[in-house]
Amino acid sequence: MYDVAIIGAGVVGGQIARELSRYKLSVCILEKEADVATGATRANSGIVHAGFDAKEGTLKARLNVQGSKMMKEVCGDLGVPYINNGSLVIGFGDKDMEQIKALYNRGIVNGVEKLEILSKSQLERIEPNISKNAIGALFAPTGAIVSPYELAIASIGNAMDNGAELKLNFKVNSIKFKGEVYHISSDNESVCARYVVNAAGVHSDYIAGLAGDNSFKITPRKGEYMLLDKVCGHIVSHTIFRTPSEKGKGILVSPTVDGNLILGPTSVDIDDKEDNSTTAEGLDRIRREVCENVENIPLSKVITSFCGLRATGSTGDFIIDIKNRFVNVAGIESPGLTAAPAIAKYVAQILKNNSLELQEKEGFNPKRRPMHYFSMLTTEEKNKLIKENPSYGKIVCRCEMVSEGEIIDAIRTNPKAATVDGVKFRTRSGAGRCQGGFCSPSVVEILARELKTSVLDITKSGGNTNILICKTKGGGLN
Ligand SMILES: Cc1cc2nc3c(=O)[nH]c(=O)nc-3n(C[C@H](O)[C@H](O)[C@H](O)COP(=O)(O)OP(=O)(O)OC[C@H]3O[C@@H](n4cnc5c(N)ncnc54)[C@H](O)[C@@H]3O)c2cc1C
Repeated sequence: MYDVAIIGAGVVGGQIARELSRYKLSVCILEKEADVATGATRANSGIVHAGFDAKEGTLKARLNVQGSKMMKEVCGDLGVPYINNGSLVIGFGDKDMEQIKALYNRGIVNGVEKLEILSKSQLERIEPNISKNAIGALFAPTGAIVSPYELAIASIGNAMDNGAELKLNFKVNSIKFKGEVYHISSDNESVCARYVVNAAGVHSDYIAGLAGDNSFKITPRKGEYMLLDKVCGHIVSHTIFRTPSEKGKGILVSPTVDGNLILGPTSVDIDDKEDNSTTAEGLDRIRREVCENVENIPLSKVITSFCGLRATGSTGDFIIDIKNRFVNVAGIESPGLTAAPAIAKYVAQILKNNSLELQEKEGFNPKRRPMHYFSMLTTEEKNKLIKENPSYGKIVCRCEMVSEGEIIDAIRTNPKAATVDGVKFRTRSGAGRCQGGFCSPSVVEILARELKTSVLDITKSGGNTNILICKTKGGGLN
């Protein structure tokens, strides 16, 4: 029996698992997919929000500002890319500037530091490609960017290195509370736990319902994106927002930590919690709006588009509460990525207040090696490593310069990659300009060799997403 079972291996479940792995507790993470970080955590803007958006006095506002302050250290410990690039909310008229003033005031009440309202000339000085029609901006120097899926992968890997267990392909479909113990089951397996944490993203209302709590609903809200080639990453240096609307922070333009330019997201409520498709209308809207905000965006340099689903809760705030040793961590829409480290501390405190003993574990190691550390080494260090292990000298992904050694590391390091996407989101092999057109066959072969299976069994993302379906010629495939 586990002390705590966490349902959902996104950034929120991952940060909670890591926080709990500091203590003498048995913790397991249950995830329905074949890998971690496949939900909203994989498809979002990757912005560490300063904290001026969320309404004063809400849990969202408090955990946003706390999480933003914690993020640099958390990323440093976990070897996750983080850049403090600052953010701007730009205005085009008096009404926008009034809203910017209101955001400034809200930010001050929420505890955001160093906020400033910039004039047109100040704005143009720090962002030369900003629209000539912009007349001012709210500047949040504490805003930052981060790799959201790497943060989740590293959090879960670090929790596992400190003793937590991960069960993939475990789709929770039954929760029973018998004799003071939770029995949590999928079609094939069951686990028992004294406490349950529901961090199931858009499905957290379903999970709460399994435990008899129907007090809230989650609506999936679609957010579509376009990602531009690395040659465009310099077009802006800050994250550029328009003034927000009821449906969110609007369409942004931002560099990513990997040097690409990200455009999006749209904001459309839908019914289907698995609909991650992009649409012609959504992408058209992005093209139109980004060009109103920033000049010289080379829209011909799009390398991929994708969509994420926000878990929009019916209460308007993060839903974090406990009943009968069952903790809901639901409605964690934006700024949930930013807030994740603070949510984890908050949940640990709730568990403690409800009689879970948090006794510190000797030997807890908060640190983790970066996932693509090879590219950060000096030439001498690289040469030394290649001498010791020639697989680091064999480049598999030429767009992102990823070596075979790093791919093998990703397959052998917690949480172990077992799919082509798993390798991509840990090493960036396949995340570059050709989007895996060149390296995927080699990645399939390396996965098959490492996992001692046939290339026919290797999938893109688990289930029936096999990449190769049969032999067409003799030999070759194993
Ligand atoms: C378009 C968009 C833009 C965003 N931009 C930002 C941003 O810039 N900054 C920011 O701070 N936040 C942002 N967010 C919010 C942020 O991405 C989320 O708050 C965060 O990723 C939520 O993490 P999570 O772990 O709660 O959910 P998820 O990442 O969705 O993880 C939930 C997990 O639960 C699993 N699960 C579901 N049902 C079951 C089941 N029955 N059994 C087992 N497992 C199950 C899922 O497979 C999934 O892995 C954005 C979100 C979106 C969608």
